[in-house]
Amino acid sequence: MIGSAIALALCRRGYRTLNIDKNPAAGFGSTANSCAVVRFSYSTANSIKLAFEGYHYWKNWASFLDLGGAIDYAQYIQCGHLVIKTAADDRRDMLNHFRSIGIPFEEWSRERLLARLPIFDGARHAPPKLIDDPAFWDDGDEPLAGAIFTPVAGYVNDPLLATRNLKQAVRAAGGRFLFKRPVAGILRSAGRVRGVKLQDGEELHSGIVVNAAGPYSFVVNRMAGVEDGMSIKTRALRREVHHLPSPEAFSFEADGIIASDTNIGIYIRPESGNKISVGSGDPGCDEKIWIEDPDNFDRNISELQWKTQVFRLSKRIPSIPIPNSGVGVVDLYDVADDWTPIYDKSDLDGFYMAVGTSGHQFKNAGTVGALMAELIDACEGGHDQDATPLQFTGHYTKLAIDTGAFSRRRSLNTASSFSVRG
Ligand SMILES: Cc1cc2nc3c(=O)[nH]c(=O)nc-3n(C[C@H](O)[C@H](O)[C@H](O)COP(=O)(O)OP(=O)(O)OC[C@H]3O[C@@H](n4cnc5c(N)ncnc54)[C@H](O)[C@@H]3O)c2cc1C
Repeated sequence: MIGSAIALALCRRGYRTLNIDKNPAAGFGSTANSCAVVRFSYSTANSIKLAFEGYHYWKNWASFLDLGGAIDYAQYIQCGHLVIKTAADDRRDMLNHFRSIGIPFEEWSRERLLARLPIFDGARHAPPKLIDDPAFWDDGDEPLAGAIFTPVAGYVNDPLLATRNLKQAVRAAGGRFLFKRPVAGILRSAGRVRGVKLQDGEELHSGIVVNAAGPYSFVVNRMAGVEDGMSIKTRALRREVHHLPSPEAFSFEADGIIASDTNIGIYIRPESGNKISVGSGDPGCDEKIWIEDPDNFDRNISELQWKTQVFRLSKRIPSIPIPNSGVGVVDLYDVADDWTPIYDKSDLDGFYMAVGTSGHQFKNAGTVGALMAELIDACEGGHDQDATPLQFTGHYTKLAIDTGAFSRRRSLNTASSFSVRG
């Protein structure tokens, strides 16, 4: 998704691009299993601006792609997003950013939340616990403090189709694709990238190479020998998302809202087929399984993680029907040290990276394409990105985004939640 978005923006600037992927088609990487939630609940102003600009690409998807009418487009489902509060004064910093940036939001009382979602239990149930903790089954500790609702948030119904849409637009703009061809090395000489070497030995020469390898980003950065020049690095993290039927009395697909609930350590999303998807909010008590080899990890649903996530959800939605066995997806996040992406150049001239998407950058693909193309164009024209990071202006929102916030050389973003919330 990210590689296709960058290729489209570069083609539209007059570059000739080639997307190389070891998979058989575009979007078959971690993107295929994305929940594709579009929300703005980040911890820093630049991340919020990036997401708000990204949302406008989805709202204008067909006109952005400019492919004409007879296309099966991915759809944006605008169902809204709730941040369930942990305390009455929760997320003040984020709300201050929302106000200054212009993100539409409402603060809901517990009563309003329960009136809108009557299947919800109104107790906090904080903090998140593991299923084998005896306190897991305790009753909720106190009433919920309410929620923050962003009405224009939503999700993209089919991330694979969205990537195919992008690929078609890249082709229409003159870009090319090479599938089933693993990159095995990065060619370099005299301090500059010279292209890539494929696993079958073929060399493809280019003065510009962009690492958009998702959970393999650290592998490709090591091929290029650029990791030492990064103060923020990336790693692959195994994650599971489970699918459950909606409660009988309430159609979550039709009337549900995406919700991030740090009280119980999960997020939920309406899913096609009147289901609910439930993912991890990365609470500290959960084990993090870091993957050394992204080609080799357990793609089966783990009973412990499944039970933990679905029974956490049953605390918020007690009427949720729980099947006997787990259904869902297992895939990898490409996690940066502070869970904030890296959109930057590298210490090797001509080698760029759009990595560390940390489980939350599908929503931003359109913006990332435009930002990376501007950054690449500027650096190739002699701009010193490390000394003076670009101020990128969003095409739709006209918001100024400081690309220094996504530098590989930044100090750790201590405002981060160090979780998928960013
Ligand atoms: C379970 C899950 C849920 C998520 N939910 C959300 C969400 O709700 N909202 C959101 O905004 N984001 C979400 N994300 C994150 C989002 O999906 C990712 O940030 C985004 O899809 C990453 O896209 P990408 O193109 O960088 O990576 P990928 O889609 O993984 O693509 C990378 C490509 O690089 C190729 N590649 C790697 N190494 C090589 C090599 N050596 N040679 C050739 N090809 C190579 C791979 O084959 C792959 O096709 C989620 C992610 C997961 C896993």
